[in-house]
Amino acid sequence: MTSPADRPAVQAAAPRVAVLGGGIVGLASAWALARAGCRVEVFDDDPGGGASFAAAGMIAPTSEAAFGQEHLLAAGLASARLWPDFARDLEHCTGASVALQSTGTLLVASDHDDAAVVQRHTMLLDRLGLASQRLGTRAARRLEPALSPRLCAGVLLRDEHSVDPRRVVRLLLAALGSLGVQVRPTRARPLLAAARCVGVVTEPGPGRPVERVEADAVVVASGWSARDVVLPGLDLRRAVRPLKGQILRLRGEPGLLTRTVRATVHGDEVYLVPRPDGEVVVGATSEDVGVDTRVTAGGVHELLRSAVAVVPEVAELELVEATARLRPATVDNLPLVGATGTPGLLVAVGHGRDGILLTPLTAQVMTAAVLDAPAPRHAESLDPQRFAAERSPM
Ligand SMILES: Cc1cc2nc3c(=O)[nH]c(=O)nc-3n(C[C@H](O)[C@H](O)[C@H](O)COP(=O)(O)OP(=O)(O)OC[C@H]3O[C@@H](n4cnc5c(N)ncnc54)[C@H](O)[C@@H]3O)c2cc1C
Repeated sequence: MTSPADRPAVQAAAPRVAVLGGGIVGLASAWALARAGCRVEVFDDDPGGGASFAAAGMIAPTSEAAFGQEHLLAAGLASARLWPDFARDLEHCTGASVALQSTGTLLVASDHDDAAVVQRHTMLLDRLGLASQRLGTRAARRLEPALSPRLCAGVLLRDEHSVDPRRVVRLLLAALGSLGVQVRPTRARPLLAAARCVGVVTEPGPGRPVERVEADAVVVASGWSARDVVLPGLDLRRAVRPLKGQILRLRGEPGLLTRTVRATVHGDEVYLVPRPDGEVVVGATSEDVGVDTRVTAGGVHELLRSAVAVVPEVAELELVEATARLRPATVDNLPLVGATGTPGLLVAVGHGRDGILLTPLTAQVMTAAVLDAPAPRHAESLDPQRFAAERSPM
């Protein structure tokens, strides 16, 4: 647990920072800023209730690698390397375990066409110099005996992790509490005056009047809804869009699987992420349907059908939860993290499918941007200015 001696000394001149959004990105940025000595307040009427609530928690830059996405891959690899220290610091600060799982990812395929997809991915990893280990079906089943004997192809990616994002959010809230950072249960928007950001204006609520809160820096970390924040010079509506994901939580005895399994099943992608307590997360749909968080029969059916084809025993697990949330996607699949061009106003939005993976790197980049310190590597590719209103996207 954080003792008073561990707490950063907050100087009277320390910057006051308002963070709009208490998802994993906003909370981790707030925590990093508070540890760097800033006076931080977070604003969110439902902290942890957005995309971070749904996320499976794969920290999986190599399984997510795709042609033409080299910047995202480089940022993802860098952030994955930061995760063990990030988890350790959070454990030190809260006295609770993050339960980071570092057992890797197994890629499998259900027929020969699917095997070709897995093979193409492995060739891409080879070309990028990223380690993968090809396994026969038998070797894959020796690692994970619950896999269906009908699968073909197996590839082991050893350097990937997973984590329960809900647990991380809980611990970040506890860590912020121990540093005296308030999370105020209200939404807010940036307050601009004379072409700079001078604080935030809270949304009115029952018995809660509008309030103006001064800040030296405001960080917009409000996930997909950042697209509704009107900023001078930065076109967030063009940059960010909601991308629906449906996901299931199942429960059985611990040990059905020991690592994340990602499969291509007759052309459909599915993943199964096991937790140490017996939970198995099955995800996820990817639907470009605007602002819609309904769980549909078709979405649940599709996920369960694919998951049972990969691990037949999934049919025996208890279906505990079906959830849908909106990923904050961007047109170039990279988040926007850093200064906006309006003094005092920064953004950390647009983390798409990879917000859990990219959290530690985002918190570092954001801290450097607020304190005007040298930017960490990879910060340049996340620069929000690529969506400056008068410029075209990359
Ligand atoms: C089904 C699914 C599975 C996923 N799996 C993975 C995975 O395995 N690995 C991975 O890396 N990523 C995964 N993701 C992506 C990941 O969840 C997101 O990229 C990440 O959670 C984004 O975090 P965030 O804090 O930016 O947004 P959010 O978690 O959406 O948080 C935004 C917050 O802002 C608040 N807010 C909105 N407007 C305002 C306002 N005006 N003022 C104040 N607060 C406001 C909201 O209440 C919310 O709490 C998955 C996403 C989905 C949907």
